Amino acid sequence: MADASTNGTPMFVIENLHASIEDKEILKGVNLTVNEGEIHAIMGPNGSGKSTLANIVAGHPAYEVTDGAIYYKGENILEWDADERAQKGLFLAFQYPTVIPGVSMANFLRMAVTNTRKARAEAIEAAGGTVAPFTPREFRRLMREKMALLKMDDAFATRYLNEGFSGGEKKRAEILQMALLEPSLAILDETDSGLDIDALRVVSEGVNTLHNDKMGMVLITHYQRLLDYIKPDFVHIMVKGQVVRSGGPELAHELEAGGYETILAELAAKS
Ligand code: ADP
Ligand code: MG
Repeated sequence: MADASTNGTPMFVIENLHASIEDKEILKGVNLTVNEGEIHAIMGPNGSGKSTLANIVAGHPAYEVTDGAIYYKGENILEWDADERAQKGLFLAFQYPTVIPGVSMANFLRMAVTNTRKARAEAIEAAGGTVAPFTPREFRRLMREKMALLKMDDAFATRYLNEGFSGGEKKRAEILQMALLEPSLAILDETDSGLDIDALRVVSEGVNTLHNDKMGMVLITHYQRLLDYIKPDFVHIMVKGQVVRSGGPELAHELEAGGYETILAELAAKS
């Protein structure tokens, strides 16, 4: 599915990724390829390293990559800091600023979008193109457009970031940020701390609305239920720091029927 603009190079490739935290190896050779337009689900038991993988792609400094590489449009992103990854079009869940009193959702999002736009505009101008300036008025227009698209209440934008968001509101903020940044690759970690049905609905409606044939997506989830609302093209099962099975949507249904125990038992029998 890769197009001419990437010369046939897959958009996103994780290759033999090994990573540790505090000298404990968590990822033990993860491989994953995501092309434009594809939706991949990564599932797995608690503690298998799913969130670790998301954090490493995001550039979280606590993890040490000991082997392997992550390529985005052919470039190894491990050399980029977290800002650069976002500016180049990777979206890695919502980065909550540590309590900044009095910053509204709208202001926070305007900063995030302005930074990303600025970096993209500089790249286009360096290549000889021109880009219209991104004014506060343009931001307000864009924000209204995206909120309408996602059927979000206008009042949400005026909420303060440190106001104690519910699980559903956190996910709403994340999806709105994703809508505004228009990433090429989005990685959403559902996190296992029990998303309520409201949050689940926000994530799935948002993903289904925003996904298009240029955008690659990786949904990380412990539970099969998210995949009742979103149809992934590929499902991967991660166990103990490795992708142990990959398949189509039927793999999620197999899990629903047999739980992780069946897959774990199969693996144990093989080794
Ligand atoms: P998952 O998201 O699949 O539930 P995680 O990536 O959160 O799994 O965790 C994988 C393993 O890494 C677990 O054994 C967990 O205890 C360990 N781990 C994750 N983050 C840290 C951390 N910050 N410090 C120490 N151990 C960690
Ligand atoms: Mg997790």
